[in-house]
Amino acid sequence: MNASKQHLFALPFPVADNNLLVGGVPVSLLAERVGQTPFYAYDRSQISGRVEQLRKALPADIHIHYAIKSNPMPALVQHLAGLVDGFDVASAGELKTVLDTPIPAGQISFAGPGKTERELCQATAAGIVINVESEREVLLLAEIGIRLGLLPKVAVRVNPDFELKSSGLKMGGGAKPFGVDAERVPALMARIDALGLDFYGLHIFSGSQNLRAESIIDAQEKTFALARRLAADAPGPLRLLNLGGGFGIPYFPGELPLDLARVGRHLAGLMPAARSDFPEAEFVIELGRYIVGEAGVYVCRVIDRKISRGQVFLVTDGGLHQHLAASGNFGQVIRKNYPVLVGNRVVGETTGLASVVGPLCTPLDLLADKMDLAHAREGDLMVVLQSGAYGFTASPRDFLGHPQPVEILV
Ligand SMILES: *Cc1c(COP(=O)(O)O)cnc(C)c1O
Repeated sequence: MNASKQHLFALPFPVADNNLLVGGVPVSLLAERVGQTPFYAYDRSQISGRVEQLRKALPADIHIHYAIKSNPMPALVQHLAGLVDGFDVASAGELKTVLDTPIPAGQISFAGPGKTERELCQATAAGIVINVESEREVLLLAEIGIRLGLLPKVAVRVNPDFELKSSGLKMGGGAKPFGVDAERVPALMARIDALGLDFYGLHIFSGSQNLRAESIIDAQEKTFALARRLAADAPGPLRLLNLGGGFGIPYFPGELPLDLARVGRHLAGLMPAARSDFPEAEFVIELGRYIVGEAGVYVCRVIDRKISRGQVFLVTDGGLHQHLAASGNFGQVIRKNYPVLVGNRVVGETTGLASVVGPLCTPLDLLADKMDLAHAREGDLMVVLQSGAYGFTASPRDFLGHPQPVEILV
């Protein structure tokens, strides 16, 4: 069998001399330049290209915010500071990263349940918009404002009375720890007014990782409708309406990319009414994964090629501890393979199915389960695609005490 390897997935990077090029550099050369495996590499021009696609597809007055929890690497966040309109952070640590960029404080928002008093204080002192998620946060902000002699800027994060259909991760609708139930928002806005906080508007985030344009369109329509209902009870005109995001990327066989043009066209049709109903509002869409997910790869090296009862195992120096999502243990219900290939044999002869595993002593440490890969040998580089989001920082990197991976922006 000398069949040539055909990839089931479209390669998001060019190929030269049978090497995947990330940031224009062959992956073998990148490994030499980094000086070690494993590493994560993020392609600067792909990130820029993705923001450009969003600008083209979405109405001009939709501002694009980057949700940095998807990838908070400081160099990448600095790169995005020159491309997007604002940042959304979810902790004081992320706030520090974005305050080091030139993005103005007014274009930074802070969402997330369980904000500590210290975080609320830091956010107020920084002058960013705080998406409040409970009455407790409102009361604390009122105290903090008095103590610091500042007027905290608040928007209410709403737990909508609808959900983003067929979403990878539902973050709204039903009982949720996120935001304030829509029906309780009028009372909370009255409280914000009575306490003299600076009311900015609403943040309505309904879900994540959605590949279906019709589901996103449906959620956006319902978001505007809900905002209209809530605005009737608001202490002042909305100056901010954050429509959430939820744009997904394809990971698994059979998944198709989101039809972004269709989402953009439909949103353009909703905007005239929205502009007239919310004449003072800045409209924001916040995205993480969609901006950086496809621009990143995880690269590890084959340490050993073993055969156990007829099954080929490529044992690598990377694994679950560094890329939890690719192992299937970060929110997948049924484990499926991420797109994986041999980075220095992009087209190579195949000899059958192989499994890619890591060095951890657990069967969960699986990066590819019986995949049709080019024939890999010791020293070859295994590349996991779609690794730019929820990779490095979303993995238990200390588990088993192996060396840490390096992150580079190319
Ligand atoms: C996680 C999160 C995002 C980013 O989600 P992606 O799927 O990465 O786009 C945006 N907004 C809020 C409030 C979030 O919690």
